Amino acid sequence: MLVVEGLTRRFGTLKAVSDASFVIEPGAFVGVIGPSGAGKSTLLRMINRLVDPSEGVIRFGNENVTALTGRDLRRWRRRAAMIFQQFNLVGRLDVLTNVLMGRVATVPAWRSLTGLWPEDDKVVALSALEQFDIGSLAAKRAEHLSGGQQQRVAIARAMVQEPELILADEPIASLDPRNTRVVMDALLRINRHFGITVLCNLHSLEIARSYCDRLIGMAAGRVVFDGAPVQLTDALARDIYGLDSEQVL
Ligand code: ADP
Ligand code: MG
Repeated sequence: MLVVEGLTRRFGTLKAVSDASFVIEPGAFVGVIGPSGAGKSTLLRMINRLVDPSEGVIRFGNENVTALTGRDLRRWRRRAAMIFQQFNLVGRLDVLTNVLMGRVATVPAWRSLTGLWPEDDKVVALSALEQFDIGSLAAKRAEHLSGGQQQRVAIARAMVQEPELILADEPIASLDPRNTRVVMDALLRINRHFGITVLCNLHSLEIARSYCDRLIGMAAGRVVFDGAPVQLTDALARDIYGLDSEQVL
C-alpha cells in the first residue's frame, strides 16, 4: 500500500505540489490527470525520490520512503521503477543491454561494464522482451526502434528490476494512437498479470478513463479529484483542465 500524506514541493515561491494526500491499494492501476503544469511529474518524482518533498510523508508498506538514504534509497528506486515520456534508453547500445541495465544492481559493476552479463540475467531480459513481443529486436540498436518499441523496451527494463510499483510519467505522450494502445496494453498487462501497482501520469483523459481503475485529478498543484473514472463527469473534467463549457475535452 502506498500512502501519501500532506505531500508538498516548493520551487522558490511556487508550490508545484500542494498538500497531496491519498492511499493506493496494492494492485491498482491509477491515472494521474490534469493540465500541463498541474504538478503530475513532480508528484511522481517525489514518490521515486528523484525530487525531495518540502513537506509531507510517503509510506510504502512499513517503509517510510521519505526517510530513506544511501543504499536503502537506491533499493527503493528499484522497487518503484520509473517509465518516462522520452523512454530514456541508451540509443547506441543494443536492446538486450538496455534491458540488462535494469539488472545492474544484481551484477558486480565490473561485469556489467565489460559486457559480461551473467547468463541468467540474459535469460530474464530476453523473456521480458518476449513478453512485450519485441524479443526479435534484442540485438538491434535502441535508437533504430520506433517510439512504441522503445517504450516497450523501457517497460521490459523496468520489469527486470522486479518492481513493486511502476511510476509512468506520460508514457504515451510521444506516441501515435496505435502505439499508445500497445504501450498502455503492456502496462495494463503487467498490472493485471503480476499485480504490480501502476501510477501513471496521463494527459489524455480518454485514455485515462478507458484504462484506469481510479483517477487522481490535479490542478495547480492540488488534488482536486480522486475517484473512479465513472465519477469524473465532463463538468468536473472541464474544471480540472480549466476549460469552459463550449470547449471539448
Ligand atoms: P506537470 O507534470 O503536471 O506538467 P510539473 O510537475 O512538471 O507539472 O510542474 C509543476 C510546476 O512546477 C510547473 O509550474 C513547473 O514549471 C514547476 N516546476 C517543475 N519542476 C521544476 C523545477 N525543477 N524548478 C522549478 N520549477 C519547477
Ligand atoms: Mg509532466
